[in-house]
Formats: sequence, structure tokens, C-alpha cells
Amino acid sequence: MLAIKHKREDCIGCAFCAEVAPNYWKMDEEGLAQLHQILDTAGSFEIGQGFEEDREALKEAEFHCPVSIIKIEG
Ligand code: SF4
Repeated sequence: MLAIKHKREDCIGCAFCAEVAPNYWKMDEEGLAQLHQILDTAGSFEIGQGFEEDREALKEAEFHCPVSIIKIEG
């Protein structure tokens, strides 16, 4: 499994992550990306888990997030 770290408070609502990896993020009623499943938090990061087969989409979200608040580890 991959670790997904998302600093939601700094999201600017571009919706890229929710488009490229809709199984992991949705846009919420505030217009910000929200992880579907949050397993833990670390400081201001929310932490989820990703399947290996979704690595490419998750890495794309990490790479293209315009404010660099997505980290994919593992
Ligand atoms: S790609 Fe980054 S800025 Fe855009 S919605 Fe996702 S977390 Fe927010």
C-alpha cells in the first residue's frame, strides 16, 4: 500500500486530484478536495492509503497539484 498525505487546508480547489484519482478525492461543499478515507493525521496533513495499481494516478496528482500539498510515499 502507498501512503497518501494531503494538506487540505492549503487546497485551492483546482479539482485536478479528484479528476485524475476520483477513487481517492472528491470536491466537497466548500470546493476543496477531500480524501474519501482518512486513516490518520500528521500535523496539518490528512493521511490515507492507496493501492499499488493506482500508483500512476496518485503520482500524477502529487506531481500536478499546483500548490504541492499531496505526497505519495511507498
Ligand atoms: S490538486 Fe491540489 S489544489 Fe487541486 S484540488 Fe487537489 S489538493 Fe487541491
